[in-house]
Parts: sequence; structure tokens; C-alpha cells
Amino acid sequence: MKCKIKIGAHKYSVNDECPDHSYGENWMGRYIPKDNQIKINGTMPKSKIKETMLHEIMHGFADVCGVLGDREEQIIENMSAMLYMFITDNKKFMQEYFLDD
Ligand SMILES: [Zn+2]
Repeated sequence: MKCKIKIGAHKYSVNDECPDHSYGENWMGRYIPKDNQIKINGTMPKSKIKETMLHEIMHGFADVCGVLGDREEQIIENMSAMLYMFITDNKKFMQEYFLDD
């Protein structure tokens, strides 16, 4: 998917169809604030693409909030994995509670 999302005051171009090796070996995703872009390696399994998308979006949150400091990568890695599981394990709740209007 290629689309635009909004994080804080800025619109970001999102692309989860990027080729493997775009950023060297084993890259999964990039949050690129200077270009307002999020890029995801589209060759990964779909669940990994979605979890990585959350991870990069959370880098955007951290950028806006500026609160995580040295531990940003570890905190975002853990929180994005938990958030991905929460969303996928609680689809009915997510739909009824947050997406009902
Ligand atoms: Zn990261």
C-alpha cells in the first residue's frame, strides 16, 4: 500500500512495498522525518510488515513527543510488538470501541 498518513502536524508518505535491500541487508523499515516518509520492506511476511509499520509510526510519535531518549529503539520495539498483538487479538473490541463512527 502506498498512501498518506498524518502523525502530529505532518502528513507522511507511506510505502510498504519497498524492495528488499533498499537499505542494506536485513532492513525492515525506516522512518524518515526529513522527507516525511515511512518505508517498509515489502518482501517480509504480511504480519511482519504490519508490525514494522506500527514500529515506524511509533518512531513518529516519539519524534513529536520527544520523550524516549537513549532507550527509544528498545521501547518502540517492545511496544509496537505488543500493540500489534493487541490490535490483531482484539479485532472485535477495536472495531466496536475505536472504529464505530
Ligand atoms: Zn526502530
